[in-house]
Order: sequence, then structure tokens, then C-alpha cells
Amino acid sequence: MKSYTADTLFDGKNFMLEGSSIQVDNSGRIISFNQPENCQPIHCEGLLMPGMINAHCHLELSHLKNKFTQHTGLISFLKSVMSTRHEVEESHRIMAIVDAEQRMLERGIVAVGDICNGLSTAETKAKARMHYHSFVECVGLNEDRVPEIMQHAFTLQSTFQKTHAASLVLHAPYSVSKLLMESINKESSNSIHSIHNQESAEENRLFQEARGEFVPFIEGITGKPYSAKLRGSSSLQAYFPLLSNPQQHLLVHNTFCAEEDIDFLHAHKQNIFFCLCPNANMFIENRLPLVTLFLQKDCRIVIGTDSLASNYDLCLFSEIEVLRTNFPEVDLSVWLHAACLQGAKALNMENHLGSFELGKKPGVVQWINWNKKDKAKVAVLEKA
Ligand SMILES: [Zn+2]
Repeated sequence: MKSYTADTLFDGKNFMLEGSSIQVDNSGRIISFNQPENCQPIHCEGLLMPGMINAHCHLELSHLKNKFTQHTGLISFLKSVMSTRHEVEESHRIMAIVDAEQRMLERGIVAVGDICNGLSTAETKAKARMHYHSFVECVGLNEDRVPEIMQHAFTLQSTFQKTHAASLVLHAPYSVSKLLMESINKESSNSIHSIHNQESAEENRLFQEARGEFVPFIEGITGKPYSAKLRGSSSLQAYFPLLSNPQQHLLVHNTFCAEEDIDFLHAHKQNIFFCLCPNANMFIENRLPLVTLFLQKDCRIVIGTDSLASNYDLCLFSEIEVLRTNFPEVDLSVWLHAACLQGAKALNMENHLGSFELGKKPGVVQWINWNKKDKAKVAVLEKA
């Protein structure tokens, strides 16, 4: 048994009362609070908190670190990823995955919602050094290929499911056919769906006006003139009604998600989490979502790093730093809640991760210099 206390403790949702302590058993499971008489508490410098949840990552793209330039816009970024993602030996790709996982562990991340197009991450994930939910990503604009895409996705899903939860998801509204959306929806009862949502202004324009930079991009892929099957006053409002089955939704990026879109989602009353990836947003579009509006409207916020193709690190402290700098009026507890308990809820892991609660084994992370502007100094005291 061990007992921890610090100047400041955060329980996954709120700051704890001054002088609080937590007691964990030898495996790191929380067995009591504020019982220092059972075991002399270790006093830690800085802030103690549960392990963090990276709600959106693409571990399989880790080898693309430092390969692309910033601020090129989404379409140019997508073209770069599509043309270079396969230019690598599998052994090199796996090495980059292992290094990226190690980095996340060192930065206090205990669980990841990870997008997968192949099985490169399967071996690393099977070692269970951290918790995973694999989102098997389906992409494809050609309706004739839907059976083949679904078959491939089922194969990946069943492999991942041998060691952890996995669900089938769509890449983005502009990169899938209507038939593929319907097929994924059919397979999504009781599962978590994740989608890259409104990452660029051009995405909205495509669904509003059937015009803009996505049209030649799509025509270049399909080899056919673009014909819009879905129209709406925004991308989200055009596609979201087709995704009625998932038990919960993770909308990722939301860089161009407007007030009307949030109101539209609230009217649907579905279980929705908005995932912020601030470093990736700055890297690709050089812009952040309307974060203050999401908070005013009581949206549930989680945080992701996205991949090393569009980020320099896989560290949620670095994401929080961007949010703290750009939204100084927001209390730190909001971001920590997003990175801890809310993230665990988004990945259906709240029964064992995300907060200091009796019986959970959420990991214990020390943020040594939390009240300074410097790069976060972090120590992992207990594993999840
Ligand atoms: Zn992504």
C-alpha cells in the first residue's frame, strides 16, 4: 500500500480539498482517501492527477513525424499523407509506433482512441502496456467498393478485438460514399463512432454548395464528375442524421463547427463528445475551434493529439498548454476534466480509468510545474 498527497490534487473532474490524500494498493488500485494514519503519505511537488486519455490518435502514422510543413490547409495535408503514408518499410513503421507509445506512457497517457487503417499497431497494442480503443477507419468514395471495404474492416476489427475494444468508423464526411455511411451505421449499434468533423471551411462548402476545393480533390480520386448525394446547411447537418445507430459519437477537430451546428446536435440529443486537437488544428489550418462557445453550450469536451504527421509530440500537456494560452479565462480544471474523466467516458473506459475513485486503477501522474508556463515536467507514479 502507498499513500500520496501533494500541494494540489485533481480527482479527474474537480480539484480536491487541500490536504487530501489517496491510498493505493500494490497494483495501483485506489483503496481509500484521506487515511494517512494507515500509511505515511508521500508528499509530491506540484499537482497529482489520474492518467490521461488521448481520445484521438493515429499511431500508424507515427513514422511521418517532421515530414510535412505547417499551415498548408487540410486538402494539401491530406494529399501529402496519401502520397507518403505507404513509403516506408513495415519494420520502420512498427519502430515508430513503439516509440510513440513509449512517449505517451512517459507523458502520463494511459488510454488511447486510435484510428487504424491496417494492422501495424496490433502487435504493440496486444502487449497491453496501455489501454486502447481501436477505431477501424473506412474510407472510399466509390459505391461499388463498399462490400470490399466492409470486408477488410471486419477483418481488422476482429483482429483488434482479440485484445481490446474496436469499432468501425468513417474517416470524414467528404471521403466516404453515402452507401458506405449507411453500411457503417448499420454495423454501429451499441458502439462508439468517431469521425473527423468540419476540419476545414471547404468541407462545409462542399455540402452547402457542392463547390470548392474538395470537388477536384474528389473527382481526382473517383475519376468521375462530382455529384452531391448529401446537402445541408453545413457538412455536419448533411451527414449526421445518417448516423443514428452509434451509442456515442466522437466528433474530432470541429474547427469549423458553428453555433447552429451545436444547436442542431443538441436537438438530436445524442451522446456526443467533441474532441479538440489544438496542436494539429494549428499545424494544418492555423486556427482553433470556437472552444468558448462549446463550453457555454455545455458540450462535452475531450482532447486528442492527432498523429505525429500533424503534431510534434503526443502529449496532452502540450495540447492543454495551447488551450490555456488561447483561452486564459477558462479554469484549468476544465481541460484536466476533458483529458481525464471525460476522455474515459468517451472511450467507455470510465469504470476503471479517468478519475480517483474507489476500485479504479486510473494511474497516478505528477505534473511538477503545473503553475508555471514552462514545458510540463511529468512523472508517472502509478500505472493504470
Ligand atoms: Zn485524425
